[in-house]
Amino acid sequence: MSYDSSNIFAKIVRGEIPCDKVYEDDHVLAFRDINPQTPTHVLVIPKGEYQSYVDFSQQASDLEILAFTRAVGRIASDLGLDEPGYRIIANHGRDARQEVPHFHLHICGGEDMGRMIKPNRS
Ligand code: 5GP
Repeated sequence: MSYDSSNIFAKIVRGEIPCDKVYEDDHVLAFRDINPQTPTHVLVIPKGEYQSYVDFSQQASDLEILAFTRAVGRIASDLGLDEPGYRIIANHGRDARQEVPHFHLHICGGEDMGRMIKPNRS
């Protein structure tokens, strides 16, 4: 499956669609989710064209991976989530119900989020 450059996050990276940005460097962009599931809900994406964690981890340069990893930690800390806690989620593919086919991590926090996987999920 090839990368679909018409996806919404690709448009955000290109500046064609606005976002509520919380962090940016040469390789990484982070912005608030348009439909937050928790009081703090930020999406962190590489600027490069990667669909999934597998794609990113196998195809991205060491520099991109390093920048992404450092950015995720910095963003969680800057959002004030390190002490109370937070959850990082990466959805990929059908079973995880990935909506946007551009690799991204969700950083969620700001409340007690309960157990990771709920027994009765719909
Ligand atoms: P996924 O299910 O692919 O892991 O999550 C995609 C996320 O992107 C969803 O939480 C959704 O609310 C968010 N999203 C979809 N379109 C937009 C958009 O145009 N702007 C922002 N900021 N978030 C979006």
